[in-house]
Amino acid sequence: MKTRTILLFLILSLVPIGFTACDEMVIDALAEDMSFAASGLSIPQISEAIYMAEEPEEEPETRNYISLPYIPIPPMPEPPPPPPPPRYKIALTFDDGPSQFTNYILDILEQHDARATFFVLGNRVYSRADIIRRTVELGNEVAGHSWNHRNFAQLGTDAIRAQIRDTSAAIEYVLGQPPPPFFRPPYGIATNRVRRVAEEFEYFIINWSIDPKDWQNRDADTIYKLVMENAVDGGIVLLHDIRIYTKEAIERIVPSLIEKGFQLVTVSELLEYLYDELVPGDVYNGRRR
Ligand code: ZN
Repeated sequence: MKTRTILLFLILSLVPIGFTACDEMVIDALAEDMSFAASGLSIPQISEAIYMAEEPEEEPETRNYISLPYIPIPPMPEPPPPPPPPRYKIALTFDDGPSQFTNYILDILEQHDARATFFVLGNRVYSRADIIRRTVELGNEVAGHSWNHRNFAQLGTDAIRAQIRDTSAAIEYVLGQPPPPFFRPPYGIATNRVRRVAEEFEYFIINWSIDPKDWQNRDADTIYKLVMENAVDGGIVLLHDIRIYTKEAIERIVPSLIEKGFQLVTVSELLEYLYDELVPGDVYNGRRR
């Protein structure tokens, strides 16, 4: 008790008069610790020192760690090699449209960066102008296949002229540009008369070398198999975008041909690939097996 009184006296002599209740508590605390008393610090300094000293220890971390079994990280897989450049060219052609299936076929071609040629009927061009325009915007070709699918063998020269001229005019009207310089007569019928008219227009006649008979075969599988079995470099494939089975078959035909090394090109590109020179009025079928 006596020591405490002396300590108190010593501390009081170091500080100005006028303590608050808080200061008295500090002094009490100091009285129990000689080192503070002998420190020679002012009361605010001592107070801070006590505060620091009394700071509670940080709570120890209480997270629970789960130890997992060691799983080695597998090495990064090699990136797939780029697809080999196509070795062959082939031209898919679609006749008698545009129809309600044409946009679907265009989607498939677009998905695979493939091109085709559409031989359209003149009397369907104005009512489906949006499809005609989309066909060409995607890099495909649109050419004539007569106005209304009449058999040219049964028509006179003037009627054949009108069939070809009116269809080309309709295509030019909706596209703002003329079709390429060729057409396909209905049924592929190219009599001498038809050829003479084609020559007048300076058009070539384009038929085909591969016919999966999609107008006759009523299942997609057969159409697919016939195309794949007969596919050849420089070939022209006859298809019809008005047939539901063709629409189904094309889903497989396009990727399978690409996988086999074919580039799917327009008729114009195929003609350039196959021939050095083309003669208006002549019939071109492409290569066959
Ligand atoms: Zn046709």
